[in-house]
Amino acid sequence: MAPIRVLVSGAYGRMGREVVKAVSAQSDMELVGAVDKEGVGKDAGQAAGVEKTGVLISPDLSEAISKTNPQVMVDFTTPLAVMENIRLAAEAGVAGVIGTTGLTKENLEEIARLAAKAGRAFLVAPNFAIGAILMMRFAAEAAKFFPDVEIIELHHDKKIDAPSGTAIKTAEAITSGRAGQQPPARPSPLEKVKGARGGELTGVHIHSVRLPGLVAHQEVIFGGMGQTLTIRHDSLDRSSFMPGVLLAIRKVVKEKGFFNGLEAFLW
Ligand code: NAP
Repeated sequence: MAPIRVLVSGAYGRMGREVVKAVSAQSDMELVGAVDKEGVGKDAGQAAGVEKTGVLISPDLSEAISKTNPQVMVDFTTPLAVMENIRLAAEAGVAGVIGTTGLTKENLEEIARLAAKAGRAFLVAPNFAIGAILMMRFAAEAAKFFPDVEIIELHHDKKIDAPSGTAIKTAEAITSGRAGQQPPARPSPLEKVKGARGGELTGVHIHSVRLPGLVAHQEVIFGGMGQTLTIRHDSLDRSSFMPGVLLAIRKVVKEKGFFNGLEAFLW
């Protein structure tokens, strides 16, 4: 079997470099393209701290796609750049593994339309760490018994969007896990500092912490009579996302349509 031809968009970023490293180490994958606004002209492998790959980072996705003919684009860029990248990939018949967060509901709907029109598969996943997917699943399960819950997500200080895509997806999973049960209504808190109670999505409070030294962490705290239940996941290193990204690359070339969350490929 010929190796899967992979292009990494955002190849000079923190996640992109990790993907370059992981893809280059697979015998069934070939890194054919690397695109970023930064690090242009550098060898993508060397920039990622591994051996030379012979793939130079280029600034133009459209040109890189037509020159390298990838089967899959892996995108870890920014919420501002990602939609245009997806449109270009879909138009060129390239499948997508999208890790960039900050996408709106409308963005997801557009990606589903683009995937259908292109006859290719696009997976959008705010978190590729298997432990984080399990955290969301366990949270949905616990919500049946504990409708009172709050989320604290903690990330490095360079993260642009808040709350994290994982926190949003967890809140949605909790809402469906509650199956219509609502936590008891409480009077609005008197916030002496604006935002002290965090943001609220589908009746779940979310608190975002941004600090140097952190990678990606989340606690889901359920409260019940005389007890609490805490589910916590920590990505201690960006390598934690790579088994999920590699699994997604292998799956997405065989599928068609739109997939929301890595769990779509897990069970
Ligand atoms: P980062 O270090 O800032 O990397 C993003 C890279 O993409 C930067 O080099 C950026 O260049 C570049 N870029 C911007 N616009 C581009 C374009 N149009 N085409 C190609 N490259 C472009 O950020 P990161 O920490 O790697 O995170 C990237 C994204 O992944 C974020 O949305 C983050 O939330 C998400 N993330 C997802 C997961 C997951 O499991 N799904 C895990 C961790 C992070 P400039 O600096 O010049 O803008």
